[in-house]
Amino acid sequence: MILRPCRRDLESVELPVPEPGPGQILLQVRACAICRTDLHVIDGELSNPKLPIIPGHEIVGVVTQTGIGAERFQIGERVGVPWLGWTCGICEYCRTGRENLCEQARFTGYTWDGGYAEYAVADERYCFRIPESYSDAEGAPLLCAGLIGFRSYARTGDPKRLGVYGFGAAAHIVVQVAKFHGRQSYAFTRRGDLEGQQFARRLGAVWAGDSATLPPEPLEAAIIFAPAGELVPVALRAVRKGGIVVCGGIHMSDIPSFPYDLLWHERSVCSIANLTRRDGEEFFALAPRVPIRTVVQTFPLVEANKALNHLRTGKIKGAAVLVP
Ligand SMILES: [Zn+2]
Ligand SMILES: [Zn+2]
Repeated sequence: MILRPCRRDLESVELPVPEPGPGQILLQVRACAICRTDLHVIDGELSNPKLPIIPGHEIVGVVTQTGIGAERFQIGERVGVPWLGWTCGICEYCRTGRENLCEQARFTGYTWDGGYAEYAVADERYCFRIPESYSDAEGAPLLCAGLIGFRSYARTGDPKRLGVYGFGAAAHIVVQVAKFHGRQSYAFTRRGDLEGQQFARRLGAVWAGDSATLPPEPLEAAIIFAPAGELVPVALRAVRKGGIVVCGGIHMSDIPSFPYDLLWHERSVCSIANLTRRDGEEFFALAPRVPIRTVVQTFPLVEANKALNHLRTGKIKGAAVLVP
């Protein structure tokens, strides 16, 4: 069974098991985490998706078949499939270590079929081995929430005080990494989400509060994971001179205009796009050392629509994971 979007909902469709092409592997999906990006894909907020599409880009599966020339993994081996599914290898970005910006890049669950399914095909060069200490469901959120969170985190430099806006799957991982590196994190949640704030403190945030409030001390950096453009001026107000605000999402509502004063004094705003394989190697080496513990809420594959709705309405603590 696979699931594909149908008017803001997914419909269930029976399809034959796909064949792996040259350099590809066929995986039996063990777990696929749900990302906010999946909502953007399903809601039609991203341009040029493959249609119909099977969403899902945080796949943990077991290799059941290998295509011609695919030799990196053995049959039966556990493999993780991330958002970056394929790059051209020859464009200027690929040649300069920025394959995340590849002109021809293909993305799992967006321009290539993903993991809301019992089987998925992937190009083996872009897959990762999941550290053994993680169960299938616990490992799945590392593949995007973890990786994109880590890339966003790396972009903040070496802040003593780091703000995180939108306390979802990515933030709950970033706070653990920040603590491991001796940094203080400040978690900002939706207004009145006391449970979310408590959750953030439990994971190591030194402070947690509503996103509309200012932190008790100015921050050196902030990451925005929530898809809300109005948080950009809010976060700029919370960072001190020379601070940086990193937007970690693929989509955001419009950013309202704001006084230049908020940007003045060498504050900066930037975005993070996708990931490189190098990010993956670094992150999967780091994860068991922290060790990052993911908090997951699992749903059977047939309840994908319910899980997506819970994510939409902010009911998920940590990450939602589909288990076929
Ligand atoms: Zn994602
Ligand atoms: Zn390229």
